[in-house]
Amino acid sequence: MGRLRTTDRKMPAGSPCPCGSGRAYGDCCGPFLEGAAVPQTAEQLMRSRYTAHVQGDGDWLLATWHPATRRARIDLADQVRWIGLEVLATQGGGPGDSKGTVEFVARYKRGGRAHRLHERSRFERRNGGWLYVDGDLEPVANANQDLVPETRGDDPSGSSG
Ligand SMILES: [Zn+2]
Repeated sequence: MGRLRTTDRKMPAGSPCPCGSGRAYGDCCGPFLEGAAVPQTAEQLMRSRYTAHVQGDGDWLLATWHPATRRARIDLADQVRWIGLEVLATQGGGPGDSKGTVEFVARYKRGGRAHRLHERSRFERRNGGWLYVDGDLEPVANANQDLVPETRGDDPSGSSG
């Protein structure tokens, strides 16, 4: 218990896709990670890269990284456990676009603490496929806190305008 590691990359095609799309892995990110299909939208690529993080698939992360910004190698932190993805907005990135932006929140746990990564990622189409270029981290509203509570309406300071 608590020592589960995703060492086996092969996920059953029928299991829910880690990217949270609500679709089956074999009908979502699976074909991309296994090289059977190419993502048609920036969001599909972004989701597949999240799933690659979940599965520890550094090869896919490098293969879909723009050469201009790609790192030489990827350290997939063992102690990080990705627990959820939510795509907030997309701009461009469709089958007829050459560029796109995907804004998302990815949640992960490290050392028993929950964190959230809010990023706006830029993607570019190249040779018919999408590549990750770079991204801007969204500033957390309350910089003093690692984790912003999700429950609101219980503000003791009663700040009013
Ligand atoms: Zn997926």
